[in-house]
Amino acid sequence: MKKLVCAGEILVEIMAERIGQSFLAPGPLVGPFPSGAPAIFIDQAARLGQPAGLIAAVGDDDFGRLNIERLRADGADISAIKVHRGAATGTAFVTYETDGSRHFVYNIKHSAAGLIEIGAEARTLLASADHFHVMGTSLFSPEVIEVARIGIETVKARGGTVSFDPNIRKEMLDLPGMRDALHFVLSKTDVFLPSGPELFIFAKAADEESAVREMLDHGISAVVIKKGAQGAVHYDKTGRTASPGFVVDEIDPTGAGDCFAAAFVSFWLRGETPEKALRIANGCGALAVTKKGPMEGIASLATVEAFVATARTGTPI
Ligand code: ATP
Ligand code: MG
Repeated sequence: MKKLVCAGEILVEIMAERIGQSFLAPGPLVGPFPSGAPAIFIDQAARLGQPAGLIAAVGDDDFGRLNIERLRADGADISAIKVHRGAATGTAFVTYETDGSRHFVYNIKHSAAGLIEIGAEARTLLASADHFHVMGTSLFSPEVIEVARIGIETVKARGGTVSFDPNIRKEMLDLPGMRDALHFVLSKTDVFLPSGPELFIFAKAADEESAVREMLDHGISAVVIKKGAQGAVHYDKTGRTASPGFVVDEIDPTGAGDCFAAAFVSFWLRGETPEKALRIANGCGALAVTKKGPMEGIASLATVEAFVATARTGTPI
């Protein structure tokens, strides 16, 4: 089976217990939960039985150990996760507003996550990789952009493929080097996985079909648009495939996009049809939101297959 590699931040997430709770006053917190978009992605892929490894950096602390042990237990290749003495593992503190929006206090760039590099272990991992996945959230400094560039170039030189989840806010575009980095990544991307409006950051057109056409004309093989509870839509040169989301009780939306992307890419690498890949990916996304904590809803292949066989879907999109 094809091996998937991703590089980027490992974090723990610590969240306010109550909706509407603010960090301007002391209050009850829950966590730490293992987190970081690349870690969520690799953990989900491994749980689906895909060979999957992560290039990352943590501190020599319990937050780092919590993440490494989870990834190891779920079958991921952790050989290229470097433990740095004297640096702390990255953190994200989260509050949930009454309107459903989330607010984050991050320590990523100045944590161990900012020390990520391509060392000997990462080179060995990349030498066995067939596919490299890029997370927009991970392109937060010139050093990590360089890690992504090496990952992409190495895997492409081996005849492998690249997927890209922009997961980016418009304000991030003004970070130094960001626009160039995104255009480089896009020029190498085979599978592009924007969520909703992210599609339009990279296209001139204002409607979905024309924006997708632009991306396909630039050499991208597949565009998969994530649409939250509604589900997702896949486009390639042969046309459009839409797949409705599954009806679940949303407890915590964090991580759904990463679980979805991991499942879609794993099934795409297995040569499955867009219908099948979208269905499993929607199943993983839906199960992800049913648990508090970004990696707590990650399900095994058997669990997802049983879920999609019986769960109710929403209205067609
Ligand atoms: P993230 O917050 O992780 O960045 P995203 O914006 O990248 O998420 P979403 O579109 O929110 O991605 O979610 C990804 C997928 O997860 C959806 O396409 C859908 O399949 C599933 N999903 C998300 N939210 C729900 C929900 N409330 N009910 C059912 N399925 C959901
Ligand atoms: Mg996203």
